[in-house]
Amino acid sequence: MNFKSDLDQLEIFSRVGKIADELGFETYVVGGYVRDLILKRPSKDIDFVCVGSGIVLAKAVADSFEQHVPLSVFKNFGTANIRLEDWEVEFVGARRESYSHDSRKPIVEDGTLQEDQERRDFTINAMAISVNSHNFGELIDPFDGLGDIKRKTIRTPTDPIITFSDDPLRMMRAIRFATQLKFDIEPDTFLAIVHDAHRIQIVSAERIIDELNKIILTEKPSYGFKLLFVSKLLQEIFPEMVELQGVDSVGDKSHKDNFYHTLQVLDNLSHVSDDLWLRWAAIMHDIAKPATKRFNEKVGWTFHGHEDKGSRMVPGIFRRMKLPMDDRMKYVQKLVRLHLRPISLVSEKVTESAVRRLLFDAGNDIEDLMKLCRADITSKNNNKVQRFLANFDHVEQKMKEVEENDQVRNFQPPVSGEEIMALFDLKPSKVVGELKEEIKEAILDGQIQNNKVEAMDLLYKLAASKGIKTN
Ligand code: ATP
Ligand code: MG
Repeated sequence: MNFKSDLDQLEIFSRVGKIADELGFETYVVGGYVRDLILKRPSKDIDFVCVGSGIVLAKAVADSFEQHVPLSVFKNFGTANIRLEDWEVEFVGARRESYSHDSRKPIVEDGTLQEDQERRDFTINAMAISVNSHNFGELIDPFDGLGDIKRKTIRTPTDPIITFSDDPLRMMRAIRFATQLKFDIEPDTFLAIVHDAHRIQIVSAERIIDELNKIILTEKPSYGFKLLFVSKLLQEIFPEMVELQGVDSVGDKSHKDNFYHTLQVLDNLSHVSDDLWLRWAAIMHDIAKPATKRFNEKVGWTFHGHEDKGSRMVPGIFRRMKLPMDDRMKYVQKLVRLHLRPISLVSEKVTESAVRRLLFDAGNDIEDLMKLCRADITSKNNNKVQRFLANFDHVEQKMKEVEENDQVRNFQPPVSGEEIMALFDLKPSKVVGELKEEIKEAILDGQIQNNKVEAMDLLYKLAASKGIKTN
């Protein structure tokens, strides 16, 4: 085989099978790759399990190529990975796992293929395909994973109560696979999740957020969140979101259910963006509604300031969930804080300077903000939806016009601090900052245009009024 040619799956299977034959190891493709093969979901991660040493097999496979093949060995786990072009191939020895109640760590020992399949989380993830020559291609499916794929069902291979108690993360994984594959969770499996939901607390936040982010990145994340909610897992991992659920009424005045509204916004947004952080902004946009909710006799229910308070809640939630505390968090905060601003620009009477200020505040995230605002329209009345969308078309048109004239969304001060200091022989000081700030404000207010000539002109006037002399 020519290593340069595009390796296909069959070439990898047969090469591994041939080497496994020579070593005398029973070897199988196992787990997610088999599931995805049957589901026709393209995947580039292949897991092989052998009855023998996975590390020995991986080395032999790597050595069988003339060219250098990157190999990483994880002695402690008894696994090894090789990279073949764009394939990520992992090898592991078949193992048996047993859990005792006083320790969260399982006892891991060498085992048979059947034992290895029994320790896996779901029937659809526990299928194996042999690659040895005597039974190449045979599907070994002791728990009827194939049937569950046909029935679109997530089910544990053995007693779900024990499976989930051994590793509670599997509860999150059940919901993640159901959401990714659009499957149902088999009733006994689901009841076991409800029963054990509180035990998710013993799992590390890092493992939980990996699964939650995978749910968020699916085509219809609301399905996963509804399963998390009904199973009570959401209460354990993200209580702020559960708080959004419910409707209060006083007399004939009630407000919408903000949990289901948020899920609708998230689904709407997911039609137009795959960006995880924009999706997180949708999840968080109304997170402070419960905390800011008031009833007013005249106007009914209000949530004044929920955008600011919501934005301030983001860091605490990100920290607890082990989400990144960097620019990605700041981006989510910014979108939550600004999510009502475009609505305020809908009115015919809106001034150019209001538009300019939003462009300045949103910067290059303005398109994402508009996506979020459009997704935020969840009325059941289609006429209303169409009218609101047309309003946003109009707002975007205004933004375009203002931006063409003034380029404020990527605002760079037309006169720099260094220039101001040189012109007036000033040391770095408060007054330099004030001059810069006043020029910026004049541009945003539309008193001057965003260019050097008008900025310099204003700068001299401002300096004179402050009694600062030119150099
Ligand atoms: P994907 O890679 O799309 O997330 P996957 O099924 O390959 O899906 P991995 O996390 O890569 O998921 O795990 C590979 C296989 O290892 C699974 O198919 C499953 O058989 C097994 N597995 C993974 N995590 C667990 C777990 N917590 N409990 C039991 N088995 C697991
Ligand atoms: Mg995988």
